[in-house]
Amino acid sequence: MTGLDPDSCYQAVLTRDPRFDGIFFVGVSTTRIYCRTVCSARMPQKKNCTFYGSAAAAEQAGFRPCLLCRPELAPGQAPIDAPERLATAVARRIEEGTFTQQRFGQLAEELGVSERHLRRVVQQAFGVSPIELLQTHRLLLAKRLLTDTALPMADVAYASGFSSLRRFNALFRERYRLNPSQLRQAKAPTPAPQHVVCELAYRPPLD
Ligand SMILES: [Zn+2]
Repeated sequence: MTGLDPDSCYQAVLTRDPRFDGIFFVGVSTTRIYCRTVCSARMPQKKNCTFYGSAAAAEQAGFRPCLLCRPELAPGQAPIDAPERLATAVARRIEEGTFTQQRFGQLAEELGVSERHLRRVVQQAFGVSPIELLQTHRLLLAKRLLTDTALPMADVAYASGFSSLRRFNALFRERYRLNPSQLRQAKAPTPAPQHVVCELAYRPPLD
């Protein structure tokens, strides 16, 4: 390719240099896939790389666009561009109560990324894993129910999304170094209301 020096191009790929994003694309002969310089897919060996000044040129040479960095789309449309959008989507599902550990794979699929990628962007955005984020949310909800209602302990556990009272007790002790009942005793509970209405302000990262 005229004007594209393979050595400097490969250097930019090695460092995932964003300055060259969209300036050139790298075609990988072993996979027949072409990528942007910022792609976080596995690093190709230099001998397998050819460089193209446009997505069209790479396509013409017989390469297919990478599904992670989506070199054929406008910047901002690819999964790799959207860590914040992805992390926020996970946090929102947790808030809505529609996210569970078992459904993590399904959620990743819905968002069009791998589980590994989704786990990584959540970790980067909130400093905790998706499961820890979920647990924190449940514990905060449980704390509110413990102090603001007179609901029986098992109801508190289930209402906060725990699958069992045992799991709830264990995690609560681990995080807060006290039993759920101790927290309740520490605060005088208000009389049991007929309906429990909880408004939760949820703002990650949580502590
Ligand atoms: Zn790629």
